[in-house]
Amino acid sequence: MTSPYFLETGAGVVTRKRSKVLKAELGLTGARSSEAKETSKRRGKDEDKTLSDQDRFSSADAQKDPAAADPARRSQGSSSAEGTSAKDRRRRGGVRPEYEPAGGPGRGDAKKDRWEPAGWQKQLDNIREMRKGKDAPVDLMGAEKCFDDQASPKVMRYQVLISLMLSSQTKDQVTSAAMTKLRDHGLSVESILKTDEGTLGELIYPVGFYKTKVKYIKQTTEILQNQYDGDIPDNVADLIRLPGIGPKMAHLIMNIAWRKVSGIGVDTHVHRIANRLGWVKKSTKTPEETRVALEDWLPRDLWSEINWLLVGFGQQVCLPINPLCSDCLNKDSCPYAKGV
Ligand code: SF4
Repeated sequence: MTSPYFLETGAGVVTRKRSKVLKAELGLTGARSSEAKETSKRRGKDEDKTLSDQDRFSSADAQKDPAAADPARRSQGSSSAEGTSAKDRRRRGGVRPEYEPAGGPGRGDAKKDRWEPAGWQKQLDNIREMRKGKDAPVDLMGAEKCFDDQASPKVMRYQVLISLMLSSQTKDQVTSAAMTKLRDHGLSVESILKTDEGTLGELIYPVGFYKTKVKYIKQTTEILQNQYDGDIPDNVADLIRLPGIGPKMAHLIMNIAWRKVSGIGVDTHVHRIANRLGWVKKSTKTPEETRVALEDWLPRDLWSEINWLLVGFGQQVCLPINPLCSDCLNKDSCPYAKGV
């Protein structure tokens, strides 16, 4: 059922305030909050750092499951991938850099005495209600939607990695278009090794920082060929050693490609919304701080879902600039909306 808050058309996602949303997304609104200015300042500081640290996260598609498609790999990974429905397998999030084993105890479990934000369950239910249409850009063309689910498990995992590399600082629509061109060209370790940088640049343009990403993709692909038999690493420690892969991107790769969840995937949407809702004990400055703060109280079984929920919510309602608070079911309990 489509959310009562949004309209879905054959052309994609349309909110009832589409023009306002699009203007906000494109930065065309007249108002500029201090928050937006701060975000803009930070963006310009360091491209490489940005690519590693501000990975755009998207949701996993339960129907595209490269890990589950490979019995050998699945047996090495999370057993939770087995015996669950496609809907149940819509797991999102990531893996802590401390590399807790999937399924093991996490800080999010033993927290009876821990702080937790008042009324968070109701707020979460409200967000689920607002997201039930599953009609946000991330739902339709997120990075994890872009791989070929008919390809071999190895190729699917490689395509997941590439799509997430492309998605950093890039809109889902642009990532999706670039992935289509890459797949038409041939998107496997072997084909990318044979592709020169100029051609690769033409294929992925205009994704954000495309020139840098061309270098990272080529370097990473060579490492995968030489050290991982053409596959991708199955742990965060090795993933973050690859050029252009930061911890947060590695978390999503683990989640989507290997179906292992042991941390919360926190991107700029999750970071912003967690702070607006007061889901962090003290306000946090970076997504990594937010990840740690959220994992301290949020039940572990929500770690994966929370990324998908909040990314789409941030794309449609809790926008970076001019959030649609008047349409939000949380407006009466949200500290940001109340100006607290
Ligand atoms: S009330 Fe406004 S700031 Fe708070 S969660 Fe809703 S849209 Fe975001």
